[in-house]
This record gives sequence, structure tokens and C-alpha cells, in this order.
Amino acid sequence: MFIGIDAFAKCSSFLLEKKFKRVLLVADQNTYVEAGEKLGQALRELNFEYSVCIVEPNKIGDVVADEVSIVQALLKIDNNIDALLAIGSGTIHDITRFCSAKTGKPFISIPTAASVDGFTSLGAPLIVRGVKKTFQTVSPIALFADINVLMNAPKEMTAAGFGDMLAKYTSLADWNFGRFIADEPFCPLAASLTKEALENCVDKVDKIAVGDEEGVRILLASLIQSGLAMLLFGQSHPASGGEHHLSHYWEMEFLQKKRHQVLHGAKVGVSSVLLANLYHAWFASGELLPIALNDRSEKIAEIIATIPKSEQIAALLKRVGGPTFPKELNIDEELVERSLKEAHLLRERFTMLKCYNIKLSQ
Ligand SMILES: [Zn+2]
Repeated sequence: MFIGIDAFAKCSSFLLEKKFKRVLLVADQNTYVEAGEKLGQALRELNFEYSVCIVEPNKIGDVVADEVSIVQALLKIDNNIDALLAIGSGTIHDITRFCSAKTGKPFISIPTAASVDGFTSLGAPLIVRGVKKTFQTVSPIALFADINVLMNAPKEMTAAGFGDMLAKYTSLADWNFGRFIADEPFCPLAASLTKEALENCVDKVDKIAVGDEEGVRILLASLIQSGLAMLLFGQSHPASGGEHHLSHYWEMEFLQKKRHQVLHGAKVGVSSVLLANLYHAWFASGELLPIALNDRSEKIAEIIATIPKSEQIAALLKRVGGPTFPKELNIDEELVERSLKEAHLLRERFTMLKCYNIKLSQ
């Protein structure tokens, strides 16, 4: 893994070392201009052969990780291709990761923005027939991130990456809750790696807000660490709780209504604020499941106490320029209310959001 200047030259040497003969660059129009062309230049200097797949946007102009994009990329992969290079943010990585798993060709991660924590994980959240589902696929064999490309990325992408990190407040609390209440599988090391990554980001929020080299480096390193924690655990529990389920629900709704997609990290930042508010209010009301109340309320109180108040999470997001409330993402109250009731059904995982709904329906 390399984060710094000269990432493209380093990547090209790595491909030579691996004795790859030809690679496929997978990008979208923007990331190809920002990074793909520079990487292509570095490859040409070494007389390295490559082909390019520019994933096309859908009818409303969004590039999405769905069956159409996947087939577009798969059609470019033949026997002469030795490896795939994912040049972009989360969506391009999810498409490439899936193609890599299905064709058995390794893939290399070239992040173009510190926008999401999924670069180094196994899971590929894909939309198939309008439903968002995460498939366990493969992780990259290497990662090369060019610091100048990351610094030039739109500011809202950096804010989204910070949102995806702050989401760990509720995902870690949900994981701990599920572990104690419903015996969800748990890994202390994955939990502490995720917590450390989150704390690093919060400590350095001002640097990240400025978007200077140090800030962007800290953010990407934290996102990578969060992705590695998921890789270590083999599932997304450390980084994805009720707030991610809300975000998936909103995303599916946007697709159905043919509305423009919103950055993943922007959505989970907002949904974390929402859940922090709900979880604190719910616990304070004493309305938890009776079994939980009897002998575990002290433990649950400890878990809830690890989540900052919603105003604190919102203030952190604001510092970095990210949205904090559903309205800013054009998500109305009806959708918020419906997602709070139904989003937990998207996953089996036992979160506080699921427990809250079980209690509601009793
Ligand atoms: Zn995420």
C-alpha cells in the first residue's frame, strides 16, 4: 500500500514486478481524466500494454454499481488481461471488485478521493434489479493513492469520507449491542482498529477540514484502516450498522424514483446523526426490550455512552463541510420515518435499529 507522490510510477513498477503483461483500467469519465490518463502515461513510459473501460453513466447521468455497469466491464475482460485496476471512488471499486472475483483476475486499487472506507474490504455493495445487496468478493492485491489526486478531489468527497468515518460511532455501538444481546460474531481487534481510525479522524478534524496534504493523508489512512478491519473480520460489522442500512434504503428509494444519487459518505454522516438522536432518546425513555432491561441495562448504558450526542456528530460534520440533516440531501420526513421502520429489514444483522423496531411492533 502506498499513499504519496509518484504513486502512478510506483504502480507501474509493481505491475512489471508481478510480470503482468496487460491490464484493464476501469474508471469513469471524471476519474479517467483526473488519474487514469496519468497512470496511462506512466504505463506507456514502460511500454506496458493496457486497455481502458470507461464505465458509462445511467440514463440520469449517474455512474452506479449495477448489473449494467458490471456487464460493461466484464465485456472488456479477455484472456489477455492479467489484472484489473480500479481507478475511482467506491462505485468503480465495487464494479471492479466484483469482476475480479468472477474472473479470478486480481485487482489493484487506485483511489481518486478519500471518500469511502470500502477500498480494501471484501464486500461489494451492488444494485441488482433495484435492490442493494452486499456481495462478499475479493480485496485488492495492492493500493496506490496519489496524494495530489486526492487533494484535487471535490471537497464534498473528502467530507463524505469523513462522514463514513463518523458513522463508526453508531456502527461500533450497534456491533457491541448485537454481540451482547443477540450473539452477533465479534472480533476485538477489528473493533479496536476501527475505533482507533475513528479517533484519529476526530482528533485531526481541523486538518481534514483544511484538506491539506496531512489532513487528506490521515483521512485516507483511517478509511483504509477501517476497510482492513472489515477484511480481517470477513464481514462489514465493524463499519456498518443501522446508519448504513438507512443509507442503503435511501439509495434504493432514489433509484426507484430516478433521482440523482448522493455520495455514500454524505448519506451515512446524516444517518449517524439521526441514529445517535434516536438511540439516546430511546434509551433515556426506558423503552428497551424487557429482556435487555432486566440484567443488561448497565451494559447497554455503557454502549450508548460511546455514541456522542447527535449535535456533537453534526458539529463535526459541519466543520468539514458535510451535510448533517436529511433535508440537506432532499430526503423528506416521510422517507426518514419509513426508513427508520423498514431499513433494518434489508439486513439480518441485529442492530439497535432492529431491536427498536421489534419493540415497536410488540
Ligand atoms: Zn460506508
